[in-house]
Amino acid sequence: LRNCDHRRSGGGVLSIGVLCFKNLFMFSLKTIISYYWPHIIKYKKSFFSTFVFYGASMVIAGSITPLYYKKIIDVISLGDAVQNKETLLMSLFVKLALFILAYNVFFRTADFFMVFCQTRILRDLRNYAFDKITEHSYVFFSNNFSGSLVAKIKRFVGSFETIHDTTVFHFWMVAVKLLSIIVVLFWTIPILGLVFSVWCVAYIAMTMFFVKKKIKYDFKESEEDSRVTARFSDVISNILNIKLFTSQKNEYESFMEISERERLAQSKAWRLGNIIFASQGFLLMTLEIAGMYFAIRLWLDGSISAGSVVLVQIYMGGIFASIWELGRAVARFYKALSSASEMVEIFEKKLDVADLPNPESCAIKNGEIVFENMVFGYNKNNFVFESFNLKILAGEKVGLVGRSGSGKSTLTKLLLRFVDVKDGFIKIDGQNISNLRQSDLRKNIAYIPQDTILFHRSLRENIAYGNDQATEEEIVEASKKAHAHEFISSFSDGYDTLVGERGVKLSGGERQRVAIARAMLKKAPILILDEATSSLDTISEKYIQDSFEQLMSGRTTIVIAHRLSTVQKMDRIIVLDKGKIAEEGTHKDLLEKNGIYGELWKHQTNGFLE
Ligand code: ATP
Ligand code: MG
Repeated sequence: LRNCDHRRSGGGVLSIGVLCFKNLFMFSLKTIISYYWPHIIKYKKSFFSTFVFYGASMVIAGSITPLYYKKIIDVISLGDAVQNKETLLMSLFVKLALFILAYNVFFRTADFFMVFCQTRILRDLRNYAFDKITEHSYVFFSNNFSGSLVAKIKRFVGSFETIHDTTVFHFWMVAVKLLSIIVVLFWTIPILGLVFSVWCVAYIAMTMFFVKKKIKYDFKESEEDSRVTARFSDVISNILNIKLFTSQKNEYESFMEISERERLAQSKAWRLGNIIFASQGFLLMTLEIAGMYFAIRLWLDGSISAGSVVLVQIYMGGIFASIWELGRAVARFYKALSSASEMVEIFEKKLDVADLPNPESCAIKNGEIVFENMVFGYNKNNFVFESFNLKILAGEKVGLVGRSGSGKSTLTKLLLRFVDVKDGFIKIDGQNISNLRQSDLRKNIAYIPQDTILFHRSLRENIAYGNDQATEEEIVEASKKAHAHEFISSFSDGYDTLVGERGVKLSGGERQRVAIARAMLKKAPILILDEATSSLDTISEKYIQDSFEQLMSGRTTIVIAHRLSTVQKMDRIIVLDKGKIAEEGTHKDLLEKNGIYGELWKHQTNGFLE
């Protein structure tokens, strides 16, 4: 409390006056809330109505109805000394009944508002997280475990539910209840009002103090939890390796270590939690004993009535239940903030590949590609390309060959802007691709990657992914050309067959043929095939070569292949070596030259390895 500088944590309502978040979290409370706020404000009427109605119900249940119980008991305890006993009691009873009714109506109304706004906000947050995460670049996803990303998204959305629930049901309702009790006490038994207020301040200060201490253990706990999740997901996606290398025992042992680390982190955090509970329990006990003592003394002195003693008892009961929960709620609230901040870290991350604020409108038509003094490396010290130059004419068919790791796939990733150049530029039809919107650029490139991954959806949906306007006839026609129709029709569900996660239920060659059909549907002036036929047998490849010729006609094409037969007929073959063009020319030129290509060719008979 003492070290807390409100201005730094954003000030206003958001700092809740007592919490100094900047020192605790990676981000200020304001930053975290700023990701929730735009979605909250859309439903501001129902959002604020919950506060009003729950607040009203708490004022009634917390302080007004006990006041009527007190009055009724006072009348009863005085017995015959009261005139018009019956009328008085009945009128008190009717008022009490009306307040009880009002309490219920307010509370249930608030429940409906709560469901209305919370479900909508949660939906919008899920959508927002989906939208934001998919904006990140290809490299971002290669650097992050998909399992822990999914867990972070779930925690970010779930955290809102916790933050909202605790704010409404604990902070707000308890605050209203306590305030109204204190007001009534000051009004009826001032000395007890004072005792209650001092106690409340002491209780809240102590809770904040401890919870703040606990937060670093909570962080550690959630860090270890992410590690466990990530390991689970890594193991599950590598299950084939585990079976193949019979490494289940080793994996289990190393998992046990990670799991034990989570237990250690948990037990530290939870032990401190127990200490907090014990201290809170102590303060509650003190209040219970002291409150009753004061009430009895005051009754003995004749300062308060029997009804007031009951009133004190009811108030204390009400306070105990809600304030005990408040302590736990503060802990849950902090924990939710720390979980949310993991995702906020990702939201705040600058996109590796971002569109310009005002991108040029895309005028790609013919597909002439120029790389000019291009520099690129995945990391600072290791460059894949240093000053790379290449011009590919519109409609030209270029074969790209070279040793593994020479940068062929990287070149296609650069062209697709999965990664951005560090220096120099890439132009298509004279337009620098860095100035284009990524989606506009990619609409103009059909790409078949080295390893095709499919959605766990039907084959039809996977093929139509290339063009959502495609008709059933077009889908079948593309599949026929890609020689995919044969195997698809042999499945009992045909085009409705589900392909399994990432397409695992298909063979490598089948997956590739689906990818080829998908690319055929995409009407793009540029075509890139990265080892697109590597999983096909030689007969299938020969068949597909015909359809490739159709696919390539009128398109600028880059074909990457290790199997030289695939690129033999290209207009030009480029041999890449360590990110540089080592040789270029037609198949015939390069054979005559007898360089790297000639060497590679010699090891393959008619393009196939001997
Ligand atoms: P192959 O014929 O085996 O497919 P390639 O010519 O396509 O090889 P690239 O995939 O372009 O090779 O890789 C070029 C270099 O960049 C390699 O040294 C590789 O280790 C490195 N590299 C590729 N992807 C990444 C990545 N995401 N992060 C860091 N380095 C990478
Ligand atoms: Mg490659």
